[in-house]
Amino acid sequence: MVLRQRYLARNGNGRVIETPRQMFKRIAADVARAERRYPDKTRLPRAAMRFYEMMASLDFLPNSPTLMNAGRPLQQLSACFVLPVEDSLSEILESVRNQALIHQSGGGTGFSFSRLRPQDDFVASTSGVASGPLSFMRIFNLTTDVIKQGGMRRGANMGVLRVDHPDILDFIALKTNPHEMTNFNLSVGLTDAFMEARRRNERYPLLNPRTGRPVGRIPARTVFDRLVAAAWTSGEPGVLYLDTINRANPVAHLGAIEATNPCGEQPLLPYESCTLGSINVARYLLRQHGRTEIDYSRLAETIPLAVRFLDDVLDRNRYPLPEIEAATLRTRKIGLGIMGFADLLIALDIPYDTEEALRTASRLMAFVQSHAHDASRRLAEERGPFPGYEGSRFARRRDPRRHATVTTIAPTGTISILAGCTPGIEPLYAVQTVRTIMDGTRLVTLHPAFRRMARAAGLDVSRLLPHLNESPSIRHHFGVPPHLRRLFVTAHDVDPAHHVRMQAIFQHYSDSGVSKTVNLPNAATTAQVADAFLLAYRLGCKGLTVFRTGSRAQQVLSCAVTQ
Ligand code: ADP
Repeated sequence: MVLRQRYLARNGNGRVIETPRQMFKRIAADVARAERRYPDKTRLPRAAMRFYEMMASLDFLPNSPTLMNAGRPLQQLSACFVLPVEDSLSEILESVRNQALIHQSGGGTGFSFSRLRPQDDFVASTSGVASGPLSFMRIFNLTTDVIKQGGMRRGANMGVLRVDHPDILDFIALKTNPHEMTNFNLSVGLTDAFMEARRRNERYPLLNPRTGRPVGRIPARTVFDRLVAAAWTSGEPGVLYLDTINRANPVAHLGAIEATNPCGEQPLLPYESCTLGSINVARYLLRQHGRTEIDYSRLAETIPLAVRFLDDVLDRNRYPLPEIEAATLRTRKIGLGIMGFADLLIALDIPYDTEEALRTASRLMAFVQSHAHDASRRLAEERGPFPGYEGSRFARRRDPRRHATVTTIAPTGTISILAGCTPGIEPLYAVQTVRTIMDGTRLVTLHPAFRRMARAAGLDVSRLLPHLNESPSIRHHFGVPPHLRRLFVTAHDVDPAHHVRMQAIFQHYSDSGVSKTVNLPNAATTAQVADAFLLAYRLGCKGLTVFRTGSRAQQVLSCAVTQ
């Protein structure tokens, strides 16, 4: 259904003119054309066929824009962009224009608004006062309302403001009004200096970005407490740990990172874009001696093929702006990740909220990371390192790389639906999910493994439906055998600290960021939100988003439940 509505090619009258197989053939043939750019002896034999098989089997899917646009007139293949916003009217409006072009082509945009002078600051040209970042942000939000992507989905944005910007308190409170910035996810850019001031209960300076001078000092805990209260109320803003992000930036010689793409998993330099792709790990199972295990040898075949596919996508991509083409091809960032992790755990008989699940995550992602790096190294030998390599951390270690970053955990909001698996590394959202698609159609799906195992246990599933229609969780439903109650853990059943620890493990083995929501029960306290932010910082996460059940927040992204 989602496939038909969004991705299959249409003719001029809007009629669907391709089958899913034809869609995968279209993408595979187009992406494989990049192989011809390189010397004959380095070409991947049967590349189009191998790419086709990898997608048609639903082992791997690239991000939505590649599915929609590869081999079609638009040919814009990236999901993630970051655009600069400089402190002049013409540069701000230039950025709005670029945002519109990107949204039209199916991409999402992230912005740092930290360079804009604060509200009521001096404006020389008019001898007047500045309206400040928040009023300009509203223009970006409005533009998004107006431009629907290919008529199917609205664009998504990330807006970042540094914690030392003078307008930070207004920024923090912005989305507690449900009518504000509805097409944006907001994140406060936290610094180590701020976190240290919070720990010591000290004041820290607010800086005017126009002059670089302090305009006042404010208690760090006041700001932190307001941030926590807003996140408790509305799920926003989230946080980005900017110094953690920049410590991990392998191309620091090209500039510092100030912003990420809309869902936070891809920190990028201004004008960079990134293409994502995810392996459906639930398809990598091996049944041996009556036990189910992860099929690492088949995974070892898919990972380099997926890295090569994404490298080819970089060459086939038609970038919306020359600046984006230049910045993207300079670092050649790609984002290979996984989806279907919760399904994999269920097949392995491991509840998500256990130490065993954390150990499994660690082994799995370490494997993906090391094989993906090897693949990037081999491509560097065949095709050359990324052009910005000299001066990078890899050059200092004499470690050849084709890509400045290789791994990312994306939300996989739409592609996990196509693959029929759980999104990204999230636990089940509910044992039975209801999705309302854009035209209002409701899709009700009972988790297939649950249906199978419940039947095998002699359970009449239809008698459970009244409960499943009411509640996402079966943990406390005594009509279900204890083993199933334990195994089918939903996001609401998982302790917030465990969510954070899971995110931290995937972060440890990912070059870029990790998309993950930390769910909190409705009765959670603000202290629990604060604990989650502090734990994430301590464990080396690059950011964090919390979501308290029943709070008003509606995520902008294409999450399963909001489809
Ligand atoms: P998909 O499953 O559609 O490939 P994801 O849910 O994994 O996409 O999101 C990956 C990235 O794609 C996001 O971080 C964002 O940059 C972009 N993205 C997702 N949804 C949208 C949207 N509605 N509009 C624009 N960009 C989006």
